[in-house]
Amino acid sequence: MPDAKLEELKQEAIFERFPYQPKKFIGYSVSCTGIEYCNLALVETKNRMRTISESLDKEIELDVPVRMHMVGCPNNCGQRAIAEIGLQGIKMKNQDKKMVEAFEIYVGGTLNEGGKFNEKLKGKVEAEQLHQVLKEMILFFKETKLLSETFLDFVERVGIDELQRKLDDILAKVAV
Ligand code: SF4
Repeated sequence: MPDAKLEELKQEAIFERFPYQPKKFIGYSVSCTGIEYCNLALVETKNRMRTISESLDKEIELDVPVRMHMVGCPNNCGQRAIAEIGLQGIKMKNQDKKMVEAFEIYVGGTLNEGGKFNEKLKGKVEAEQLHQVLKEMILFFKETKLLSETFLDFVERVGIDELQRKLDDILAKVAV
């Protein structure tokens, strides 16, 4: 298509639903189908991923996208292992000893340069607190990152131990 037609093309209705410049969170989020259609799922995924990502797009401005993948069980249909932030559904007992939906967080996966699986951070996050925990983690990234640094590069620069310390602080705070 000639450049002269570009502005006309950008007005097409499809770009309202699928922007040609995707937002930094929802535009890069992946989810498996989760409990809605999969009888192996431990947790709800798709709507949760969408709601969290859309909220983060409203709450946090970043100069780079963040690739988050959510899966409802260890089978990994949503390719959690190659995400910058991987979210894997589990069940856990909460403070009231009730079995609830929760997530493990993995950081630093990629397909680039031969690929690398992300690494698990210790700690379980109750599904109800996942948005808040991710928001605080990504705000920490925003405050600490270098210009144009991706979350993957950030993980490699600051190291897993530093991210684990941050997650421990966040979990201690949300548990109060
Ligand atoms: S990752 Fe698990 S929950 Fe998600 S679609 Fe695959 S089997 Fe189902």
